[in-house]
Amino acid sequence: MADIINGKAFAARVREKVARQVARLKADFGCTPGLAVVLVGDDAASGIYVRNKVKQTEEAGMRSFAHRLPIDTDEATLLALVRQLNDDKDVHGILVQLPLPPQIDEASVISAIDPAKDVDGFHLLNVGLLNTGGAGLVPCTPLGCLMLLQDRLGDLSGLDAVVVGRSNIVGKPMASLLLAANCTVTIAHSRTRDLPALCRRADIVIAAVGRPQMIKGDWIKPGATVIDVGINRIPAPEKGEGKTRLVGDVDFDDAKEAAGAITPVPGGVGPMTIAVLLSNTVRAMCLSKGIDHAALVD
Ligand code: NDP
Repeated sequence: MADIINGKAFAARVREKVARQVARLKADFGCTPGLAVVLVGDDAASGIYVRNKVKQTEEAGMRSFAHRLPIDTDEATLLALVRQLNDDKDVHGILVQLPLPPQIDEASVISAIDPAKDVDGFHLLNVGLLNTGGAGLVPCTPLGCLMLLQDRLGDLSGLDAVVVGRSNIVGKPMASLLLAANCTVTIAHSRTRDLPALCRRADIVIAAVGRPQMIKGDWIKPGATVIDVGINRIPAPEKGEGKTRLVGDVDFDDAKEAAGAITPVPGGVGPMTIAVLLSNTVRAMCLSKGIDHAALVD
């Protein structure tokens, strides 16, 4: 029976550390990290994420700037706001909540963000730095997964890792981070042949697919570590008519019998994303001011 990796508790510790770093930055350097979050439209799930980001940013002692734009906002208006935030000395991190409505080209918006303020790590400069071993800003969800893995396993050198999913926001950066941590990495996707056999060889399985409970217990090598990034809402008639519940991409009840450790959904990877976003904002400020982030505070 697997250990359940408590991402919620780990994320709380990351946020406490960020709050100590922010206090030190205020005391020693007289500056406060600021995070701007831009939401276009009124998608309910995105609205909840943005509210949580604002709340946790303020709880960490940082400045929060929330910009909510109507669903019919045109690209030029959003780009003008991004440029204004790029020039704002109080803003050290900029996050534009994705997805954007169809009239706006996401790639144009991402490339307009100052790479030094790109706390999502999606700008091509940061993508390039991640893939060439440079000190850029790294996407929050994959970095959160890496932190959970290193907390559990320590040095990852030589371990076989399978990343299921190859999106630009999760799968690919996750694979780059694991490679940089000296894992032997395989990236699987919808055209992969015999995914169960591939997963069965892995010491680490990362699921980032978006298909509820797809990865089964008999795909997992006994003792392997399983990180489930998926967030899927499925019907839950047991809770009452019309009710739903969240599940991951891994069949948790099945996989926990084989795995050595596994993240639950909810309460696994999800809480790490915002915690790493706050940490990235502090790091962005340190990079821009030449402050040694690693030496800031334990
Ligand atoms: P995408 O839809 O962008 O990518 C999904 C990937 O899964 C694709 O590469 C696709 O392959 C692959 N895939 C689809 N079907 C299969 C299959 N049958 N077998 C193998 N691979 C398959 O999703 P994201 O990467 O954006 O997100 C993945 C999941 O993670 C979602 O559930 C999302 O909600 C969640 N998520 C959670 C976050 C968090 O904070 N915890 C943050 C971001 C995402 P192909 O490329 O061939 O189409």
